[in-house]
Amino acid sequence: MSQRLLVVEDSKPIATVIKQIAQSLNYEVVMATTLAQVEEILSGDTDFFAATIDFSLPDALDGEAIACVLSHKIPSVVMTGKMDDATRQKILAQPVIDYITKENSQAFLYLKRILHWQQTNSDNEILVVDDSSSARNHIVELLKRRNFTVYTANNGVEALEKLTQHKHIKLVVTDLEMPVMNGITLTNEIRKKYTREQLAIVGISGAENGSHSARFIKNGADDFLRKPFCPEEFYCRITQNIENLNNIAKIQHAANTDYLTDLSNRRTFIKNSEQRIAEYAKRNVSYCLAVFDIDHFKKVNDTYGHDTGDQVLKVLALYMRKYFGGGLTTRLGGGTFGILLHGLDTDQLYNKLDDFRREVAVSNIPAGEAEISISVSFGVVFDSQDSFSKQMSDADNALYLAKDRGRNQIVVSGSEDYD
Ligand code: GH3
Ligand code: MG
Repeated sequence: MSQRLLVVEDSKPIATVIKQIAQSLNYEVVMATTLAQVEEILSGDTDFFAATIDFSLPDALDGEAIACVLSHKIPSVVMTGKMDDATRQKILAQPVIDYITKENSQAFLYLKRILHWQQTNSDNEILVVDDSSSARNHIVELLKRRNFTVYTANNGVEALEKLTQHKHIKLVVTDLEMPVMNGITLTNEIRKKYTREQLAIVGISGAENGSHSARFIKNGADDFLRKPFCPEEFYCRITQNIENLNNIAKIQHAANTDYLTDLSNRRTFIKNSEQRIAEYAKRNVSYCLAVFDIDHFKKVNDTYGHDTGDQVLKVLALYMRKYFGGGLTTRLGGGTFGILLHGLDTDQLYNKLDDFRREVAVSNIPAGEAEISISVSFGVVFDSQDSFSKQMSDADNALYLAKDRGRNQIVVSGSEDYD
């Protein structure tokens, strides 16, 4: 179900722009142009995911609509034409998500980012570490207003426990002075386990001493805030650190995956397979390395076009996920894919590959207007003691043999009928 956004704005052109932005993010928009209308809407229905509120309305010149919307616990962004210091203070004294000055197109791009964050921040997990419950609650309240997923700890030792319990925490916000383990020691301990690309740390301290920020940073923190801080500065630092981490994760993902199918790419598959095979050898786990290639794929491209060919590759990747979920899968290049599978005995592994081959052969793959039937040929190596590159070339050779023998079949490297 789409999330509902209440847009309170008396200027028609601006309301239209906000509506377009919201709809591009799949919000369902409800509009109001006066405080009276806002009151009427909210008297019947307060189920809004968020709101944007114009500071000044014909019947509410001094920001009265803000308190009205906030009284219904609707997370709100304030849009304002003027931004003198008194107005800013007045807005920030209330629990709003943020405020935006409607000066130029940048303002609307920023609004789009905020509305997008509201939708996605629950994926960003943050741990708040502070022994003072009032300080902790204040930070938690600020983070929850922005929809982050929040965990708390009273001291460094508890924080380390929480980090092992919740593997997806991206950011730790920690106070300095705490019993049991202070913030600097905690920062140090965290950095023994997590790189700055995996987890960000923001240190907080109320002490006057200016050297605390340097101590935090030198011990591995990414940022520092001095208490008391204003919510605006707090949000800027938190979102900047989270965005940094998310950008790094996106770059890493792009570097490790095939852009077309979202399977891992050749390099990543080889690296991960080598590690796994070393583990299997140690634990005596049986496995197979399989390479398959689409039969006469060039004909598909020649007949239906390259885009349809791409669609076939994507659908095949979906089949692979369905069949080989616990294993490693890759597009090695062109119409050639690789699979590393374990956890079954040799016959079962073989049958799994053969079930996949059969399903591909009987399926009609929808691609645009057309429905396409294809088949695939496999070369497979079982439980080899050879180097990984030798195993890959053995699987490749078996694949050539499968093509030679008429395609749509599996050839096992070194099997009885293998030559
Ligand atoms: P064979 O049965 O012998 O494998 O015949 P084939 O036509 O599949 O031959 P081969 O595997 O050598 O050819 C690969 C073809 O795959 C060539 C090209 O048309 C197509 N191809 C390679 N990469 C892509 C891609 O990214 N997208 C699309 N649509 N086609 C690709
Ligand atoms: Mg082929």
